Amino acid sequence: MKRRKLEMIMEGLEGFSAPDPSLEQYVTPASIASHLLYSALLRGDLEGTVCDLGCGTGTLAIGAALLGARSVGVELDPSALKIGVENASRLGVDVDFVRGDVTSIVLRGVSTVVMNPPFGAQKGSRGDRPFLRKATEMGEVVYSIANAGSEGFIRRFVEPCKVEEVEKIAFPLKRSLAFHTRDVKIIEVELYRIICR
Ligand code: SAH
Repeated sequence: MKRRKLEMIMEGLEGFSAPDPSLEQYVTPASIASHLLYSALLRGDLEGTVCDLGCGTGTLAIGAALLGARSVGVELDPSALKIGVENASRLGVDVDFVRGDVTSIVLRGVSTVVMNPPFGAQKGSRGDRPFLRKATEMGEVVYSIANAGSEGFIRRFVEPCKVEEVEKIAFPLKRSLAFHTRDVKIIEVELYRIICR
């Protein structure tokens, strides 16, 4: 599937019906999600089982499945998970959706983790630490998105895994939470490829 086609399909997916600020629920924009997944595809990282940690309404998990991966999505919030299941079934793609908490979930046989974890911006959020911890424990390769300026912290945090690539990208954050004041705010983020094998 071409990248543009993937992006268009992702744009058509249903998002969170009532996003929960404490869980930092927002859908990864289709342009970023397709970029992340295409990077993984080109590097041969979608050949085994892919796990989307904090899959929300399923964007990355469904995209990975569309690109040929065996795909598992893990999410804490059952209402988001339900939308993910509906998104996948509408497209006829096979994704295993699992209700679980990243701090305690145990999954074996995962080769690649893809995720857009909470950045820790909201009060009450524990941020991306538990996600990075679980992802590096579970996967051989991890793709993750973080706030700009996180590189030093992430390099140290994931050791002995190695940050292999960091790419700066503009992230169009759509108005979704009640206190957002602009329709689209561009923030700079970083896309990480982390190797754990
Ligand atoms: N991966 C999705 C959603 C990203 S938003 C996408 O790319 O569109 C981050 C997601 O992590 C939210 O859906 C939130 O509910 C989930 N989340 C937050 N804390 C979690 C936890 N402890 N365990 C599992 N999921 C969690």
